[in-house]
Amino acid sequence: MPRILITGAAGFLGSHLCDRFIAEGYEVVGMDNLITGDLRNLEHLQGLPEFTFVHHDVSTHIHLNGPLDYILHFASPASPIDYLKIPIQTLKVGSLGTHNCLGLALAKKARILVASTSEVYGDPTVHPQTESYWGNVNPIGPRGVYDEAKRFQEALTMAYHTYHGLETRIIRIFNTYGPRMRLNDGRVLPAFIGQALRGEDLTVFGDGSQTRSFCYVDDLVEGIYRLLLSDYALPVNIGNPDEITILQFAEEIIKLTGTTQKIVFEPLPKDDPTQRQPDITKARELLGWAPRVSRAEGLKITYDAFRNLPEEALYKQEHRDFKAFVK
Ligand code: UDP
Repeated sequence: MPRILITGAAGFLGSHLCDRFIAEGYEVVGMDNLITGDLRNLEHLQGLPEFTFVHHDVSTHIHLNGPLDYILHFASPASPIDYLKIPIQTLKVGSLGTHNCLGLALAKKARILVASTSEVYGDPTVHPQTESYWGNVNPIGPRGVYDEAKRFQEALTMAYHTYHGLETRIIRIFNTYGPRMRLNDGRVLPAFIGQALRGEDLTVFGDGSQTRSFCYVDDLVEGIYRLLLSDYALPVNIGNPDEITILQFAEEIIKLTGTTQKIVFEPLPKDDPTQRQPDITKARELLGWAPRVSRAEGLKITYDAFRNLPEEALYKQEHRDFKAFVK
């Protein structure tokens, strides 16, 4: 049984990755400091012999007994309001956390895949974004703490690859959605669905002409799985190129949820990227990967998951009181 460490295991993507690798016959060690993660995302794995949870902050030295074949480094705050709330932790987990994961991979002779992001392209002047584009990032803006940590992460990962010969993989993840996102994490999809469920107006920032391209979580997980098992060490974009304006997106959510509320416009946050769409030629050619779930299908599954959450989740400022679940 191959053994894999997944950092950020209690988060949205981390928990879906735990499920996938257990289903593929791996022994999974899930690690999380539970700052933005939530143990409820892992509740269904409790008691499985092939799953262990370790409560640890990967920005400090990681000690793990036993052999390790793979590491997926997915620990990080991932929503713009989280970067503002916890900027130092965001910088640390992308930099020091990555360093600790790379060091552990080297010591264990494990292959490591690190979660990078479309944010390395910043507010892109090249459209759609290819992996060869260097980006347009404001290092001292509100997003700089995330963007620059992820850019440093890529540089450090490549240095371990070239200097130490470590087997490394870098995925650049574009906006992804699905069940287990935090309903109140501030990102646009949970924000709009949460507003519709509470009977509030939908808040579009700016005039809503900025674009994003939303990928359903199962498609992303398939891309991660294929990239990890590939022999390609340079960054690969994984995302769904189906681009939409945020205003159109709000209209889609209104239709999906049947809400009678209206759209209200609020100021555009500083450095909000005006356009984003992945060029996935590399993923198609190298991994034979392409997204399969349409936005209509993915949004329906996600909406059904959100509306079945307990009512208190809808009104809680933050849905992360994990302590109740630590026995
Ligand atoms: N957005 C919005 N209303 C909200 C939350 C977000 O219009 O209540 C916009 C935000 O300004 C951005 C887009 O939706 O243009 C995507 O934001 P998100 O925070 O989900 O992720 P980003 O891609 O910006 O990191």
